Order: sequence, then structure tokens, then C-alpha cells
Amino acid sequence: TDFGFTQVDKSKKADLVADVFHSVAAKYDIMNDLMSMGIHRLWKRFTIDRSGIRPGQKVLDLAGGTGDLTAKFSRLTGPTGQVVLADINDSMLKVGRAKLRNRGIADNVRFVQANAEALPFPDDFFDLITISFGLRNVTDKDKALASMFRVLKPGGRLLILEFSKPQYQLLSKVYDQYSFRVLPMMGKLIAQDSDSYRYLAESIRMHPDQETLKGMMEQVGFEKVEYFNLTGGIVALHRGYKF
Ligand code: SAM
Repeated sequence: TDFGFTQVDKSKKADLVADVFHSVAAKYDIMNDLMSMGIHRLWKRFTIDRSGIRPGQKVLDLAGGTGDLTAKFSRLTGPTGQVVLADINDSMLKVGRAKLRNRGIADNVRFVQANAEALPFPDDFFDLITISFGLRNVTDKDKALASMFRVLKPGGRLLILEFSKPQYQLLSKVYDQYSFRVLPMMGKLIAQDSDSYRYLAESIRMHPDQETLKGMMEQVGFEKVEYFNLTGGIVALHRGYKF
């Protein structure tokens, strides 16, 4: 089926991504719950469970947006730990900061505007990096992965939660219909913004599948790389270590 898919060239991609997230920031959380039928909460829970996080550790929640994972890590690392929520988009950062402050979470959290491709942190700094539904928006993914590898401590790990390739043909068909027909419609009705949600569907389809992403992680130096398929591979969690 032709969904009117168009390939976006790289130079325009960064501007497009910026527009999308400026325009969805205010309604991001509610749209996330509606479009995933709340399931993104389970995917994030699974990510936390596989993170091996301990009190006192330093965490980077990259492309952290409105801070769902940051909020959890803030509690789990405690007063001796440190969580950095980094995002390229100041509208998303503002919404995230306000949300966490409202919930009384902020003491051990820092907010940093940064591009995943050129992280402004020292070498060997973080125990854990997460990037949840962020990598597919990054223009140069190899560069971003190398940058993450650099700022991880030896012994540290990277967790990538991202849309991936559904493992069953029927699921794949249903999911295509859902993402290319239902999502833009919901975007239009609820956020008056069908274009941003069409971008979402297109970016999901473009993203590397499970094995390709695993290979990309290994290419920049990650070891013991493995992935877990969630919801039939609609989403996958990749984990790799720096030794
Ligand atoms: N991590 C949050 C979550 O799981 O709910 C937010 C995910 S949201 C779909 C994607 C985020 O990636 C947006 O906040 C966007 O601004 C950010 N982003 C896009 N490109 C980026 C880049 N090159 N560097 C850092 N963040 C980026």
C-alpha cells in the first residue's frame, strides 16, 4: 500500500523535527497516552527494570522530553545520585521541567539543552544513558551513538527504547493501518495537527530494525548488545555496555 510516504532529506530533517516537537510539546503527554493506549508506560517500566540502576549513580535521560524516565530515575538514584534530562528542544524541556517541579521532583535533576550528536559532557561520565523514543528523530544516528559511547563510564550501559519492526505479518499490517490512518486522524482531532502525527508514522517506518540497530551499536564500540521485543516488536529495547 502507498501511504504517500516521502523521504525527507537530511538538512531539512532537523528543522522538521524541531517544528514537530515545538508544536506537540503542550499536548505531548496526553497524546502519548491516547495513541499508545497507555502502553508506553509499560514499555518505560520495562526499561527501568532492565537498567540496573542503583542509588548514587549518574544517569543521562537523552531526548528526555517531558521527563517520564527522568522522574523515575530521580527517585531511584536518590539524593546522592544525579539525573540529567537533555533534549534539543526548549519547548519540550519547558514542559518537562514544569511537570517535574510540580511533582516535587527536581533536587537531583538537571535540565540541559543539547543535541545527541554532540553531547556537552566529559568523557567517561555517566553510569547509564537512556534514549526513549528519541533516536529515530536524530539526523546522524551513528554520530549520536558514538557521542553516547564517549560520555559513558567504562562498565556503563546504554538503553535504547524505540519503535522497531513488528515480528508478525498480520500485526505489521494492522499496525501500518493504525499508524498511517488512525494516528494522523487523532492528531488532527485532538491536537489540531495532523502533519506532526504523519511525521511520527513516517519516522517509525524509516527507523532501523532490531538487527540493524544492534549492528550500529556494535560498530561504535558497544559490547554484549542484546534486544528485547515488546508488544510483538512494535517496540524494542536495545541494551549495550561500554567496557
Ligand atoms: N523520551 C521522552 C519519552 O519517551 O516520552 C520523549 C520522546 S519524544 C517522542 C522525542 C524527543 O527527542 C523530543 O523531545 C525531541 O525534542 C527530542 N530530540 C529530537 N532530536 C534530538 C536530538 N538530535 N538531540 C536531542 N534530543 C532530540
